[in-house]
Amino acid sequence: MTADRPTVLVVEDEPAQREVLSYNLEAEGFAVSRAGTGDEAMLKIDEEAPDIIVLDWMLPGISGIEVCRRVKMRSETRAIPVIMLSARSEEVDRVRGLETGADDYVVKPYSVIELMARVRTQLRRVRPATVGERLEFDDIVLDAETHRVTRQDKTLKLGPTEFRLLTTFMERPGRVWSREQLLDRVWGRDIYVDTRTVDVHIGRLRKALCQHGGEDPVRTVRGAGYALG
Ligand code: CA
Repeated sequence: MTADRPTVLVVEDEPAQREVLSYNLEAEGFAVSRAGTGDEAMLKIDEEAPDIIVLDWMLPGISGIEVCRRVKMRSETRAIPVIMLSARSEEVDRVRGLETGADDYVVKPYSVIELMARVRTQLRRVRPATVGERLEFDDIVLDAETHRVTRQDKTLKLGPTEFRLLTTFMERPGRVWSREQLLDRVWGRDIYVDTRTVDVHIGRLRKALCQHGGEDPVRTVRGAGYALG
């Protein structure tokens, strides 16, 4: 898992379709993970906590509908957007009727451009910075496109790690992040970094945010981690 790029899990049992879809998502800048069965999908969802899931309805073993139901049943995974792919529009009607909680539906054969647009729409909701949105919290403004951060209209100097930390916080103000969750999101899961490193960079972020004055907006939550606001 990479820290900056949004991660998409593609669940599709047809290898050719899975590859075409993954290829296009990677070309759009996404970090793509693949699963060919529902069981594999459930494992990867737990292991990798993807930002979004593109899920085929017809799968061997656990069906796409069942995967979606399970994702939406559990509090840890409920917020992950699920886009369901189905072969016919009647199936879409059925998925809707079954109240699986899917966030969007796309009928095959779909246009790749259309699917990418749907993926972006979902990401704008859950990972706004990854699609270049401007984030605001109190007097702090973060422009994900230009990587510029201002506080009370004064530009703040931030290191790259502090920028990623702030982005994570500003995407979900008020949410408490554990050090492990911040490591996954900001440093990436594949890199070994000690959790104390998080504390060091939180310290730098606090300093950077107050370089022109103002209150420290980062909250330490004892025994839990950190939050913005
Ligand atoms: Ca299929």
